[in-house]
Amino acid sequence: MADVQKRITDIGPPHYEKFLPPIIKENYGKWLYHEVVKPGVMYHMGENGDKLFTVRMASPRILSVARIREICALADKYCDGYLRFTSRNNVEFLLTDESKIDALIADIKKMGFPVGGIGNAISNIVHTQGWVHCHSSATDASGVVKAVMDDLHEYFAERKLPGKLRIALACCLNMCGAVHCSDIAILGVHTRGPKIFHAEIDRVCEIPNLISSCPTAAIRTAEVDGNKSVEVNYDSCMYCANCYTVCPAMPLNNPDTDGISIWVGGKVSNARSQPKFSKLAIPFIKNDPPRWPEVVEAVRNIVEVWADNARPYERMGEFIERIGWPAFFELAGIDFTRYHIDDFRYAGLSFNRTAQLRPHGFLDAWAATSEDDEEEEGDEEAAASISVEEVADAMFKMVKDAYGVKKFKAGDLSKAMIAQFGDRGCNKKLTQAAVRTLIDSGKCVYTYFGGSFVEIPHEEAAAKK
Ligand code: SF4
Ligand code: SF4
Repeated sequence: MADVQKRITDIGPPHYEKFLPPIIKENYGKWLYHEVVKPGVMYHMGENGDKLFTVRMASPRILSVARIREICALADKYCDGYLRFTSRNNVEFLLTDESKIDALIADIKKMGFPVGGIGNAISNIVHTQGWVHCHSSATDASGVVKAVMDDLHEYFAERKLPGKLRIALACCLNMCGAVHCSDIAILGVHTRGPKIFHAEIDRVCEIPNLISSCPTAAIRTAEVDGNKSVEVNYDSCMYCANCYTVCPAMPLNNPDTDGISIWVGGKVSNARSQPKFSKLAIPFIKNDPPRWPEVVEAVRNIVEVWADNARPYERMGEFIERIGWPAFFELAGIDFTRYHIDDFRYAGLSFNRTAQLRPHGFLDAWAATSEDDEEEEGDEEAAASISVEEVADAMFKMVKDAYGVKKFKAGDLSKAMIAQFGDRGCNKKLTQAAVRTLIDSGKCVYTYFGGSFVEIPHEEAAAKK
């Protein structure tokens, strides 16, 4: 049999080394340091004195072939054809000839793109697919990012921030973007579980497959109006849209209740402090396409609070931890609401929930978002013949008498006080002030474990001895 050359398949992508510029190959693992020269330009110094210059250009992430050809032509003209795309979709031109930098920057600007994003600046925003490409999305991606970055453009092109600022967007909680570890994360959120089209389910979906698609086991079989269908335990649903992925008869998108949340303080870097997860700052902003003005304003506000108050090189999360989260909320004018507390039934398993909550300054949370939100405020302005202190004392007695037997939410206390002293003009505003008095005096603490409660502080066993 004639010699047949064995056919090699499944060879994967070519080795990256084949594409390294010669100067990088030569200095691989032998770089001494790097320095940012001016906005968008830095150089790496090799042990042997080689210098590699990088010029970073913003890209809108979605690029036409014609535009990519233009970018490649610039690389041919100035950098022997070498460039790279960063993970945040910046384009980096890699030069060995310093004298070509200014001409390259002029050509980039002629194309209409800014140069910057290196060092103490905002780099490009990394984002996910959005409405155009992904069925799960609670918001758009490119649209929001374009609006935010248009507004923050100055912070890309200049180095006037205290440190690096990384922004990310993911259009649902599956977060294909790096929202869990960015200084500012814009995250699309669904606020309702999936709808169920019972008449369709059995026709278009495999029910066992659908049930097993749910990571929290919230779906089970049900017969509804004679249809083989399913039901959802909405308390266990985390709005992940996995069920919608396998079953088009369970859509999750809702133009009225989908929106955006803003998270802050994450980072990947190990410098100065360990990596951090982003934490919730603003629970919900309604989608407002095409320019999302509320989101743009909220992000700019957070950027400026950090820029005005952070120490040199302090990242967002480091800054917030130094001044404390309550102080950050106050500085940024963000209300702390009950939605900031992770009350998802499985949050305890992931240690996402804690009973340690500093209440100072946070009680307006309850005022703004308690279960009484919907109630009429009718007698708010009525003159009261009962004082805040008197109401606080009555509340304290109620909490103390029930100690170890029953716990009260702030709303329960409020209702009880209004029922008891309503004829003396006790209203919601007064009861809020009374709760605040109890907390500020230290007689009660605001705890969260299985609900949000006003309690007498627990004595440590050791302290009792
Ligand atoms: Fe789709 Fe969610 Fe990924 Fe956005 S983050 S692309 S909605 S899975
Ligand atoms: Fe389960 Fe996710 Fe569907 Fe909710 S959205 S029912 S958690 S698969």
